[in-house]
Amino acid sequence: MVDSIYHIDLQQLKQQGIKAIIADLDNTLVPWRSSEVQEKLVDWINTVRDADLKIAIVSNNTSARVEAMSSQLGVIALGGAIKPRRGAFRSIAAQFNLYPKEVAVVGDQLFTDILGGNRTGMHTILVTPMSTHEFIGTKIVRQIEKVFLRNLNNKST
Ligand SMILES: [Mg+2]
Repeated sequence: MVDSIYHIDLQQLKQQGIKAIIADLDNTLVPWRSSEVQEKLVDWINTVRDADLKIAIVSNNTSARVEAMSSQLGVIALGGAIKPRRGAFRSIAAQFNLYPKEVAVVGDQLFTDILGGNRTGMHTILVTPMSTHEFIGTKIVRQIEKVFLRNLNNKST
């Protein structure tokens, strides 16, 4: 369990014999239903590749959006995956010519990503859903705004 993809220790994964990462899309790589590719995500994917790890996306979401993200990021991707079924995970492992135990599945949902990865015999990493992060972020910003406004009011009286 880690806070986000950015908290994954890639070197530790490699020491555990991991050679590829299969990442979930929504709330793992991008906020739910977002098609926007952030620079931070592109940087992370480059870091993964620099660490000599392969990367793929497996999503239960509709193929069109998954394909768009796939081409934007230059990462192979499978949409409509029906996780926790094993088909998509196995297909990616086969494409990479790797054993399931050499693949790490990263996702925000226990009953699709993690269960599916475990059933396939892959290493699994649960991340906190990105939308929650955003929500907490918004809450913090609001608290800061409140303090700021209070100070302003005090000064003006
Ligand atoms: Mg997800």
